[in-house]
Amino acid sequence: MSDEIRSKVTELMPTARAELAELVAMRSVADPRQFPPDECVRAAEWVRDAFLGAGIGQVELLETSDGSHAVVGHQPGPDGTPTVLLYCHYDVQPPGDEKLWHTDPFTLTERDGRWYGRGAADCKGNIVMHLLALRALGTPYPVGIRIVAEGSEEMGTGGLENLVEARPDLFDADMILVVDTGNAAVGSPTVTTTLRGIANVVVHVETLAGEVHSGMYGGPAPDALAALVQMLSTLRDRDGNTVVGGLESDQKWTGVDYPEAQFRADAGVLDGVHLAGSGAVSDAVWARPALTILGIDCPPVVGSAAAIQPRASARLNLRVPPGMDPQKAQDALVAHLANAAPWNARVTVEREAVGSPFRATTDGPGYAALGAAMEEAFGKELGTVGQGGSIPLCNVFSAVVPKAEIALIGVEEPRCLIHAPNESVDPSEIEHLAVAEALFLQRFANADRQD
Ligand SMILES: [Zn+2]
Repeated sequence: MSDEIRSKVTELMPTARAELAELVAMRSVADPRQFPPDECVRAAEWVRDAFLGAGIGQVELLETSDGSHAVVGHQPGPDGTPTVLLYCHYDVQPPGDEKLWHTDPFTLTERDGRWYGRGAADCKGNIVMHLLALRALGTPYPVGIRIVAEGSEEMGTGGLENLVEARPDLFDADMILVVDTGNAAVGSPTVTTTLRGIANVVVHVETLAGEVHSGMYGGPAPDALAALVQMLSTLRDRDGNTVVGGLESDQKWTGVDYPEAQFRADAGVLDGVHLAGSGAVSDAVWARPALTILGIDCPPVVGSAAAIQPRASARLNLRVPPGMDPQKAQDALVAHLANAAPWNARVTVEREAVGSPFRATTDGPGYAALGAAMEEAFGKELGTVGQGGSIPLCNVFSAVVPKAEIALIGVEEPRCLIHAPNESVDPSEIEHLAVAEALFLQRFANADRQD
């Protein structure tokens, strides 16, 4: 059966390429200030028709709270079989500076065996991967299938999250595949099992009634900007590790390693510059908290004068690893900043909304079936990675569909350069992942389930 799936997927690859070219040509950036909204509607209709054509009996566009359209579909399975929800999104990041692209961002172009174009990987490559898997499997499917293609993922405006909360019936499933991540490297089957949460704050420091001359008052005058700099410097130790009083900061990642050379290349670290912090990259980026200064309000260099600043502010971004309560992490950051202020400077901290980290439950029948299918499709042992960023939808799914196992996979390996100029996808990832997804759907139909 595995051979049959494999040869069907291979046979369908030219179709997948043609379909990806059609999708990439649609400039479905969900930002009406930059791109005409009808490009998004066209992409949504294309996705609806493609899933209908692949055998999903009922697929419709639903307008969400942010004005985007979610494509939502359902094909019930045979009696007593589980249901799998397949997620993807059809909106894309804007291309950015088109001069930095070697080829037109909206024309799928092959170069050195990879296919280039905005959305070729994130996430249109995953849409064609789902279609390949479903067609290779053929109807009637062995399990119930739900599909959802989101229309505003890159905008982060929460339309789909609100729809899931309002219409849980549309997302009822035993296993949810959030297909918008990727393998650790081409050909290495990988599931993303954790996501960091977020707990941002804005800190304000005040010390003087107004600006005073640095010649006349410099020395004893409490400089608010100096106070802020001193406070911010306490948030990292000498090695560059994030240290927030009361927050654990020595957690270890237990999945696959993130090689330092790869991290340096992915992040664009300049030659000769060291990485911040001690320990493994995978610990630092997936298992530990990380503090980033997002912005500072103070006089810009051009136009600055010989004056001592009476007030200064900074916006801070705290990434919260799995296992840590984001509210408690934010409380700890607020207390740390208050304690770190020199000269009894006046400190106020505004809290922004917190987002929870996510950790998948990986000991259920869905994970067992998925892991076996990925290993069979790629011929290699499965690895697990985390992701430093957040996908709030995962927490919404786990709250609204608590019985569902949730797994993050996809065609977006590090060489894809998602969100950057010259985004590309490796067609072999689309092919292998489609085989894996089809094999998973077969295996899961026959898996032992407790409920
Ligand atoms: Zn994406």
